Amino acid sequence: MSAGEWETTADLVVVGSGVAGLTAALAARRRGLRVVVVTKDAPDAGSTRWAQGGIAVVLGDIAGDSVDTHLTDTLAAGGGLVDAGAAAEILAAGPAAVAGLRAEGAVFDGPAARLARTREGGHSALRVVHAGGDATGAEVERALLVAGDRAGLTVLAGHAASSVLTGPDGTVQGLEVRDADGRAGRLAAPAVLLATGGVGGLYETTTNPDVATADGWALALRAGATLADVEFVQFHPTALFTGRGRPGRAPLVTEALRGEGAVLRDTTGASVTAGVHPLGDLAPRDVVATAITRRIAALGVDHVWLDATGVPDVAARFPTVAASCAAIGVDLARDPVPVRPAAHYSCGGVVTDTHGRTGVPGLWAAGEVARTGLHGANRLASNSLLEGLVVGRRAADDVAWALAGPRRLAEPTETPARPVPVADRAVLRAALTRSAGIGRDAAGLAAASDAVEAASTLRRPVTRAETEDAALTLAAHALLAAAGSRTETRGCHVRTDHPATDDHWQRASSTVALDPDGRLHVGTTDARHGGVA
Ligand SMILES: Cc1cc2nc3c(=O)[nH]c(=O)nc-3n(C[C@H](O)[C@H](O)[C@H](O)COP(=O)(O)OP(=O)(O)OC[C@H]3O[C@@H](n4cnc5c(N)ncnc54)[C@H](O)[C@@H]3O)c2cc1C
Repeated sequence: MSAGEWETTADLVVVGSGVAGLTAALAARRRGLRVVVVTKDAPDAGSTRWAQGGIAVVLGDIAGDSVDTHLTDTLAAGGGLVDAGAAAEILAAGPAAVAGLRAEGAVFDGPAARLARTREGGHSALRVVHAGGDATGAEVERALLVAGDRAGLTVLAGHAASSVLTGPDGTVQGLEVRDADGRAGRLAAPAVLLATGGVGGLYETTTNPDVATADGWALALRAGATLADVEFVQFHPTALFTGRGRPGRAPLVTEALRGEGAVLRDTTGASVTAGVHPLGDLAPRDVVATAITRRIAALGVDHVWLDATGVPDVAARFPTVAASCAAIGVDLARDPVPVRPAAHYSCGGVVTDTHGRTGVPGLWAAGEVARTGLHGANRLASNSLLEGLVVGRRAADDVAWALAGPRRLAEPTETPARPVPVADRAVLRAALTRSAGIGRDAAGLAAASDAVEAASTLRRPVTRAETEDAALTLAAHALLAAAGSRTETRGCHVRTDHPATDDHWQRASSTVALDPDGRLHVGTTDARHGGVA
């Protein structure tokens, strides 16, 4: 290392401080591992603190509901691509995970002995626990950060992971990070867990915070891991429309509002989902988001309306949404709310098993960055916080188990950082928004790929912004390649040139891997077996 740079050691380095990263880090610390969490911004800068609706979990006290029913709903939403075995394991572990979170200090709405529950799109029962009305994620993040403090967890804020270090045999040896000034540091460790969250930064308008720039996809690909199902980007049907020409983070208008009776109408006053799906406004997200997109296009307008004026005590029950509406002069209790879909959640990601293990020895991934097979072609609402809790915990157990034997760190392969394509993120976002949103076709996807390539130059990223741009560039190509290869419509991947679901793709997950020369390879694997080597 050169002067001014630093090096330290740990058993486990966790990248990211959202629900998945903090849950894993706390569990690993309690198992006696030396854990360092690196997080590129403030510790609560990820998506977790913005989660509104809640956590889907079967606690066993709602008549007629069961883990099997939760699984049935998850399979139905996932469009044939859910790995049923993985999903069953994760959902069954939900009650213990939520109990563990409560033991860390998280407080949910309702009496402690019988928590309040709400319903969201695609759920056949009331099974979503929530906190602070519609501020569930803020409470989860708060509780985990306080618990981390109490447990003496080391959290390096303002440090962005730039590269997973591997030895000559491809085994993980640690992580390279950059601070805000671009100074490098190295954490030597036999285990690295990626918990870097989502990819909303690939699009002009997203519900995700600024840190969601697909870094985990790029870190994993460059370390030799495989991605799967990355064409399945879920667009939330109801992001607040704050005005024309205002890209960036769009506040979410939670689905739980529709669960409590709010209705969607177009600008002529007609229902948006009547005749589209038996569950109407509570149909799975892809169905509602597509219906809204089509209606917006047909009427040539910017948004549809969500009318929540009939929901009792709506502003008290949904204070976060009420505040976002008030900021644009809309009174949630009296006025219809202008909404339109926005990029929200990545259903695919780094291929792992239900313990977060990737195909690269020493590399784990958990939370939104990972693809366990729980979400398939479309995530069921509120299954993601649950997945972060369950798989974060299991990954920590797995790391502890893996490190229990004798181990030795080899010297990381000293490959001088190679220049990589880095595109202008504004051009990239415009291209993906135009061609890889809801409604894609072969010509548009190819044009978007060309546009990203034309906007790229070869560089060695140093600063956080450059590292993010490089990640967005690689992630954009991965997503466009996977979306181009899936010549059918399924879940949240809607191909206007292939509008039908094709049996050829039933159970086939797309995969993307990177070869040492920087070329992406797209393939398929059986969705039921996850594809972890
Ligand atoms: C507005 C909104 C509402 C939502 N509502 C719900 C809901 O009600 N229920 C539900 O289940 N899900 C919901 N979701 C989805 C859910 O919140 C996320 O999927 C989940 O919180 C992701 O957790 P995570 O730990 O994987 O990542 P995040 O919480 O996003 O954390 C990622 C972390 O990684 C860090 N990071 C990223 N790249 C790097 C890098 N290179 N180096 C270092 N650190 C890095 C970030 O700074 C951050 O700390 C919602 C999402 C949004 C955006």
